[in-house]
Amino acid sequence: MAGYLSESDFVMVEEGFSTRDLLEELTLGAPRAATGEVAAFFVADLGAIVRKHFCFLKCLPRVRPFYAVKCNNSLGVLKVLAELGLGFSCVNKAEMELVQRIGVPASRIIYANPCKQIAQIKYAAKHGVQLLSFDNEVELAKVVKSYPSAKMVLCIATDDTHSLSRLSLKFGALLKSCRHLLENAKKSHMEVVGVSFHVGSGCPDPQVYAQSIAEARLVFEIGAELGHTMHILDIGGGFPGVEGTKVRFEEITSVINSALDLYFPEGCGVDILAELGRYYVTSAFTVAVSIVAKKEVLLEQPSREEENGSVLKTFVYHLDDGVYGIFNSVLFDNIWPTPILQKKPTTEQPLYSSSLWGPAADGRDCVAEGLRLPQLHIGDWLVFENMGAYTVGTGSLLGGTQTCHITYTMSRVAWEALRGQLLPVEQDEDAEGVCKPLSCGWEITDTLCVGPVFTPASIM
Ligand code: PLP
Repeated sequence: MAGYLSESDFVMVEEGFSTRDLLEELTLGAPRAATGEVAAFFVADLGAIVRKHFCFLKCLPRVRPFYAVKCNNSLGVLKVLAELGLGFSCVNKAEMELVQRIGVPASRIIYANPCKQIAQIKYAAKHGVQLLSFDNEVELAKVVKSYPSAKMVLCIATDDTHSLSRLSLKFGALLKSCRHLLENAKKSHMEVVGVSFHVGSGCPDPQVYAQSIAEARLVFEIGAELGHTMHILDIGGGFPGVEGTKVRFEEITSVINSALDLYFPEGCGVDILAELGRYYVTSAFTVAVSIVAKKEVLLEQPSREEENGSVLKTFVYHLDDGVYGIFNSVLFDNIWPTPILQKKPTTEQPLYSSSLWGPAADGRDCVAEGLRLPQLHIGDWLVFENMGAYTVGTGSLLGGTQTCHITYTMSRVAWEALRGQLLPVEQDEDAEGVCKPLSCGWEITDTLCVGPVFTPASIM
């Protein structure tokens, strides 16, 4: 163990104890209930992150993972990933400071922002962060002036037209500009050591990775022709954070491995990196959010009954966080969160059309609508899974919770696996999903998922 993470950083749990059990304890014991002050809080299963890491190593054996700090900068996450030996991809001084404060050496940090403040370039220079990305001449000139000994990585644009969140709209040099940029760097005596790209988050087509790897090869060739010694290929992020996505992680990695074998074969002397965010943290975080206000709205014919016996009324619930805070996936990714009720309703309980709203004084702060829920009450908790990416540490734009409390947990088996850096379970090549959960006892089963579909049949 390198000593980034210790047993005092998390609650160690034995097999069979689930995230749900812990949430139940935390919500019941919450002193907030007595004071009336409530705040959303997270439970983070660090074991899930360990499991993801082993899966990554198995599926992309030639790729060295870096973690994109902006995705979730909570200390437990950074420490467990540092312990697993990851590098860190930072986009500003605050992120570099944060990872250096927990003891990560500068050699394991890449300053992966093609548009940097001069003061922050100087910060990188002072603190020994050598790898910096760029995608244009002006940026290059800034680095030439403030940090001439930096090692530059040329960020190229990708075809991310179909990705949920497009990065190449903002970042990345077009292929046709690369020669000019590399010539410019040569003239300025700047070392360009590699190429990076990002296919965008939620990329539905693995071939975009293959295409980008092929284009990176072209840029390597231009670089070599101009006398640059390029030895880093950074394939970015964009990998799914949950299972059951349209394109599975294993499908993407198989396309990447083939492209790497073709364009950057083993022994070619190129160090291959990835900068993953969502992949590592999404499924590790579950959040509990409390109902702080409630409104009953009668529909046009209050005396008539709906087919399932419930009267025609709808409930509007207000939560203490919304789309400008932890539920920003609604705005940015068009992903609507699905609440899980802590208590399964009885079959006799009528279900009502319901919607969930955040705290902002803004009609767009709608977290979910069209839900079929039993009548809920002030102080009831709703649970949302897969909440680890771009939720914690992003702050809030308008009235959401700034910092949520996080309880970190890990099963003993995951902790032992981390300490030994060994795969804890026998991997069965034929098994669905290939990578088995580290802590099976931690998988929430028997959940009551009430999706945004207007039918009681959506209750499982
Ligand atoms: N690297 C860079 C430069 C990014 O901008 C991002 C996300 O925006 C990431 C990595 C992480 O991406 P993802 O969460 O899709 O893995």
